[in-house]
Amino acid sequence: MVLASIHRPGVLEGVRAAYRLDPQHVRQLRNAIYKRGVALDEAVARLPSPARTQLADDIALTSLDLVDRRDSQLDGATKLILRNRADLALESVVLRLQSGRNSVCVSSQVGCAAACRFCATGQMGMARNLRVEEILEQVARAGQILRTEGRRLRNVVFMGMGEPMHNRAAVEEAVARLIDPAWFALSPKHVLISTVGIVDELRRFVERFPEVQIAVSLHTARQEIRERLMPLAAHTSLGELRRALVAIQRARRRPTMLEYLLLDDVNDTPADLDALLAYCRDLDVHINLIPFNPIDSAPALRPSTPARQADFTRGLKEAGLRVTTRFSLGQDIAAACGQLVRHAPRTSRVGPR
Ligand code: SAH
Repeated sequence: MVLASIHRPGVLEGVRAAYRLDPQHVRQLRNAIYKRGVALDEAVARLPSPARTQLADDIALTSLDLVDRRDSQLDGATKLILRNRADLALESVVLRLQSGRNSVCVSSQVGCAAACRFCATGQMGMARNLRVEEILEQVARAGQILRTEGRRLRNVVFMGMGEPMHNRAAVEEAVARLIDPAWFALSPKHVLISTVGIVDELRRFVERFPEVQIAVSLHTARQEIRERLMPLAAHTSLGELRRALVAIQRARRRPTMLEYLLLDDVNDTPADLDALLAYCRDLDVHINLIPFNPIDSAPALRPSTPARQADFTRGLKEAGLRVTTRFSLGQDIAAACGQLVRHAPRTSRVGPR
C-alpha cells in the first residue's frame, strides 16, 4: 500500500478524525515542521503516544528522497537533487542571502513543455507535473536545512524546473498552504511565481492570489525574436500578453516583474531597447534584467557584453522604469537560473557533469 503523504492537504485531518486525535497535536506537528523547520521524524517523535505510532503507521513522512546535496563554494547556494515515487529526479535550490532573505527556488514540474531555447530544463523536453505534496516537501526540506544553520526561510520562488502555469492546480494548492497561517504562514509578498505567460491560467491565478508576486519572462518585446527564443510565444502574441498584463495590474494594484534575459546581439541592441520601452509605456512594471547563464544545449547563445548591459540598463532607467539586475547564485554547482536539468532519471549519476 502506498501511504498518503503528510504534506498532502487533508491527509493529516483524515488520520486525526479516524483516530480521534487531539486537534492540538495536529497543530503542534504542523507548527513544528512548517513554521520552525523541525525534521519530520523529530516532530512526530515529540507527539505523545498513541498519536505518534498511529501517524507513523498511516502516513508517509516523505514523498521525495534526497539523492544528493551540493553546496556552492562561491556563495550561499545549495542544490538539492531529489527523487520522487515515480523515480523522476528534480532539483531545488536553497539560497542564503546576506540580507536575511533566505529563499528556496522550487520546481513545479519535471522537465518543461515550454522548450525555451536558452533554458536547460526547456531543452529536456517532456514535462511531468509535480503533486502538491512534492512541491511542499521541497519547501519543508529547505526550511529544515536553514533551521540547522540558525536561519529562517522567508521567500519561496517558483523558478526551478517547469512552467508553474502548466500545473496551476497543484501550484495553487501549494501556494494556499505556503500562505496559510496554520501551515507555512509565509507572507504572500514573499511568494513569487515566474511564468512564460500562459495568459488564461495566469489571470485565474491572480484572481485567487492577488497579493502573491508575479514575474513574467518577457525576454524581448519583438514578436519574431520571442518566437525564436520561446516557441510558446507563437500561441500568445506580445499584444495578448500585454492585455493580460493590464488586467493583472488592475487586479493586483502592485507592479508586476518583467524578466529580461540579456543575450548578446539577440535582444540587447538599441532597437530592442526601443521596443521594450514602447511595450512598457503605461504598464506598472519593474524590469529584472537577467545575465544569461550559458548552457551546453545552446552553444550559440552568449551573455551580453558588459558595455551593452550597461547601455541597456541606463536606457531603461533614463525612461523612468524601475530596473534591477538579477544576481545569480550557484554557478559552480549548476544551480543558477536555467541550469536545472536532470537526464535519464533512472541512471542519473551524481557527481560533476
Ligand atoms: N517557467 C518559468 C519559471 C522557470 S525559470 C519561467 O519561464 O518564467 C526562471 C527564470 O530563469 C525565467 O525568467 C527564465 O527565462 C530564466 N532562465 C532560463 N534559462 C536561463 C539561463 N540559461 N540563464 C539565465 N536565466 C534563465
